[in-house]
Amino acid sequence: MGQISIQVAAGRSMPVRGDFLPPELMHLLGTAGRVIDQHVNHLGNCRACGSRWPCQRALLAEFTLGAL
Ligand SMILES: [Zn+2]
Repeated sequence: MGQISIQVAAGRSMPVRGDFLPPELMHLLGTAGRVIDQHVNHLGNCRACGSRWPCQRALLAEFTLGAL
């Protein structure tokens, strides 16, 4: 019995890897990609939102892509 619960715990901690991504994740990837395309460094400021580079949106999108 103890052994079974250990196996279940190990299975839960396994990272999900594969070709299939849930639609929410695909949407997130697409959004992050668009943000990175639009929010680019332009003379020290963001071209899309005008904030000082790097702007929060670009940082967030980069973080999102890096986390996946
Ligand atoms: Zn921006």
